[in-house]
This record gives sequence, C-alpha cells and structure tokens, in this order.
Amino acid sequence: MASKKGVRIIITLECTECRSNTNKRSPGVSRYTSTKNRRNTTGRMELKKFCTHCNGHTVHKEIK
Ligand SMILES: [Zn+2]
Repeated sequence: MASKKGVRIIITLECTECRSNTNKRSPGVSRYTSTKNRRNTTGRMELKKFCTHCNGHTVHKEIK
C-alpha cells in the first residue's frame, strides 16, 4: 500500500518567455501553482500555460 503523505508536493511554475523577454511592455511574470508527484516527476516540471503577460500559451518552468 502506498502512503498518502509526502508524494505530491506543491511547486511554482513560472513563464519562461517573461523571464527572457525583458523589453516587453508589462512588467511581471506569470506564475502558476501546481502539484507534482515526486515519484513520477524527478526533474523540473514544464507545462504549457496561458500567460497573461505574453498573451499566449508559453512554457512555464518549475522554480524553487
Ligand atoms: Zn509570459
């Protein structure tokens, strides 16, 4: 039986476009809070999310 505790952890996903594109009009970085399964995802999570600052779907990367 698998334990219910300690597998899913909360992570923060940040828009990679916002971070690289510094001369865009609106300052700020799109952030999402998500959870991940530590057992299945060992590396950094990457998800395509809608960024309000970039006005489109961009890759959001897990940050610490
Ligand atoms: Zn963005």
